[in-house]
Amino acid sequence: MINVTRWHPDTCDCIIDYSWDTDLPADQRVHILSQTVRKCEVHQDLDGTDHYAAVRKENMSKNIYISAIKDVYADANVDWSFDDKRKLVLDVKSASTIDVAILMDKIGADVKINVV
Ligand SMILES: [Zn+2]
Repeated sequence: MINVTRWHPDTCDCIIDYSWDTDLPADQRVHILSQTVRKCEVHQDLDGTDHYAAVRKENMSKNIYISAIKDVYADANVDWSFDDKRKLVLDVKSASTIDVAILMDKIGADVKINVV
């Protein structure tokens, strides 16, 4: 059965409906754009699948970066935000001494890391 989920990403104010097939096993499910319900200010110039792809990429990147940090520092508390150039900023807090160079090496230079 095709199910439609309304998605409110936590990374922006867009709202998107996507469809997926409940008959497929979880690891084979593909999310397909059903309709764009609302575009936020950041993504207002994008349309259709380009819009969906951009919102999804931003949201997934944030989740992947946070989980990569927790792989290194399991107790890490990570707050995130975007700077004025829409670059992801991660504020990392941990009982361990955080080595930003190790984190940057692991997650790449597309992100700003602050130790708080
Ligand atoms: Zn958006």
